[in-house]
Amino acid sequence: MTATETQFTQHLSTRRTPVEEREAVLANPGFGNFFTDHTAIVDFSVDESGVGGWHSARLEPYGPIALDPAAAVLHYGQEIFEGMKAYRHADGSVWTFRADANAARLNRSAVRLALPQLPEELFLESLRQLVAADQDWIPSGDGESLYIRPFMIATEAFLGVRPAREVSYRVIASPAGNYFGGEVRPVDIWVSRNYARAGRGGTGAAKAGGNYASSLAAQLEAEAHGCKQVLFLDQFNDNAVEELGGMNVFFVFRDGSLVTPALSGTILEGVTRSSVIQLGRDRGLDVVERKITLDEWRDGVATGDITEVFACGTAAVITPIGRLRDGDEYIGTADGAAGEVTMSIRSQLLGIQTGAVEDTHGWLVRLV
Ligand SMILES: *Cc1c(COP(=O)(O)O)cnc(C)c1O
Repeated sequence: MTATETQFTQHLSTRRTPVEEREAVLANPGFGNFFTDHTAIVDFSVDESGVGGWHSARLEPYGPIALDPAAAVLHYGQEIFEGMKAYRHADGSVWTFRADANAARLNRSAVRLALPQLPEELFLESLRQLVAADQDWIPSGDGESLYIRPFMIATEAFLGVRPAREVSYRVIASPAGNYFGGEVRPVDIWVSRNYARAGRGGTGAAKAGGNYASSLAAQLEAEAHGCKQVLFLDQFNDNAVEELGGMNVFFVFRDGSLVTPALSGTILEGVTRSSVIQLGRDRGLDVVERKITLDEWRDGVATGDITEVFACGTAAVITPIGRLRDGDEYIGTADGAAGEVTMSIRSQLLGIQTGAVEDTHGWLVRLV
């Protein structure tokens, strides 16, 4: 089993969602509520001689996973995932964005969680297989897309603590509406003082479900204080700004610089983040990856040196940050509109993804 097979066998669903039902979903998909008719699967196992390999690549009807109750993922959380989108262009073709970066990140996450690395070609083929079979599920309205969720779980039934020798890689897809219902409004963010999402040497730089599990208590705290999202700080490093639970953060300065926290091992390296860095440089902004503290944020907003703050990630693209709430203190104002630079980068990025703006960096990958 040394060679990795990349050929997918297709077991197409004989009970696809009826057209009217699918169209009702596509009329108002929301985010992450409905799933398409198929799932792509590749299994990994280690044979008796200790050699591991990927095999049984296949497309199957979407449905529940039969897992042994002792499966390692259920006990020790050995799980990683990715998040990306497929966009239908005006000529009917279907594209995704920087899939090579997602493939590379999946493998960095795999190394950290002691899961096997997946060859990039197999990753890309899994996306093509699923999206080709379920392309009728891609909504075509403004700001709409098909959200793709590749993930990898430890399926071996074994309660000892060691990396699983049986693993399953899967891809599911979910039609996604315009995150903001057409309007982009600044959101209020809660500073987490009681919880951290990542620590030095931990799994913060990996896209792992466990990071999200540990962010939920902070998210509840945010909601209890009227905020939409949580900001995590490095409280052992002058309250350096890290990121939100699932989005990276950028600061627009009056002097024409664009600042984002430097990757420190505790921040997830977003594909949107790297794209915003590139687009910022393209438009002549002085893009700097460095440490930025909560004090600098507070002072910068007070003096007017910081003019805009936004968060970014695949799901919501770019979200302007209105106010930051730290206990009873607010940084920023409630009536702020979305910033100019924020909105301009947002529409450029969305334009590239949807085919309306030229893709000068070769970021788009054709799926269908
Ligand atoms: C996925 C994720 C992001 C955003 O990454 P993108 O590749 O831009 O979608 C940021 N922070 C965390 C913690 C994430 O899991």
